[in-house]
Amino acid sequence: MDEFSLIRQFFVDQPVSRSDVVLGIGDDGAVLQAPAGQQLVSTADTLVAGRHFPDATAAADVGYKALAVNLSDLAAMGAEPAWASLQLTLPEADESWLGQFRDGFFALAARHQVQLVGGDTVRGPLNVAVQLTGFVPPGQALTRGGAQPGDDIYVTGTLGDAALALQHLEVLSGPAQAWCRTRLNRPMPRCAAGIALRGVASAAIDLSDGLVADLGHVAEASGVGARIDVDLLPLSDAYREHRAAGGGLDAAVGGGDDYELCFTVAPAQQGRLEALAAGWDCGFTRIGVVTGDSGVEWHHGDGSSYRPGLTGFRHFT
Ligand code: ADP
Ligand code: MG
Repeated sequence: MDEFSLIRQFFVDQPVSRSDVVLGIGDDGAVLQAPAGQQLVSTADTLVAGRHFPDATAAADVGYKALAVNLSDLAAMGAEPAWASLQLTLPEADESWLGQFRDGFFALAARHQVQLVGGDTVRGPLNVAVQLTGFVPPGQALTRGGAQPGDDIYVTGTLGDAALALQHLEVLSGPAQAWCRTRLNRPMPRCAAGIALRGVASAAIDLSDGLVADLGHVAEASGVGARIDVDLLPLSDAYREHRAAGGGLDAAVGGGDDYELCFTVAPAQQGRLEALAAGWDCGFTRIGVVTGDSGVEWHHGDGSSYRPGLTGFRHFT
């Protein structure tokens, strides 16, 4: 199978067909109609086998996650996703792998009305790169840079489950193991929450590298500090099993791959936040406050200090 029949067989037929795609897969470039009066938000993320996912990961999970991590970035920007491009580097044209990869990718694309409009397919060590474009009303994109001292800090969902799936599965019950694996392989990008937070959140980021690293980015970009009560972090039942077996908070504080949102909201906006978040399926939790200091200070509910053991994944260090 050459690359052209591969593209035709696996990627041309897809669940979403958008009216703003003037010309999709098949030519030298896609022609896309930008919506009048909107700004475009563009993001890209690459998954490298053995680095961003274990080599044995199911193909459907790789396809799902390659899109999910990009949707999560657009969610953190408050943008509505629209157009994806897929750069695939494959060691071989394995039809069974490709079919499952495609199914995982398109299942999530359908949920978010994302159309695949092009890409590139080459041979080499397994590597999946996705570029995703979305829309936001002018000036309403959420950024890392707007947090103000006194704002409350929130996260969606629960923290640390994906890190448990990579490190601490052995002490967990069967259902808890399954939950953590699903959290690692099938993260739920918080797109609806991100869009709802336009005009409400002062800053936002998605938690890909872990709270320590990602909240650090918000603090740095905003020129502020933060104080976090680690006893307020939202934990799943599975994480509570880990705690009951003597496990600490490190996976929740510093572990990556949760793809929840972390955002800041001025106290005056708290009523609006509570009203709009009532419709979210993920829930949200206040974990601390923005300060005028620099850096993030971690403490327990009783005021004693907490020292994060994990500081987040970094390339090139
Ligand atoms: P060119 O050689 O002109 O760059 P390609 O042969 O790489 O074109 O691609 C042919 C068409 O297939 C293009 O529209 C391209 O965007 C699309 N395409 C290639 N690979 C993928 C892929 N993995 N997913 C979706 N579309 C793809
Ligand atoms: Mg060309």
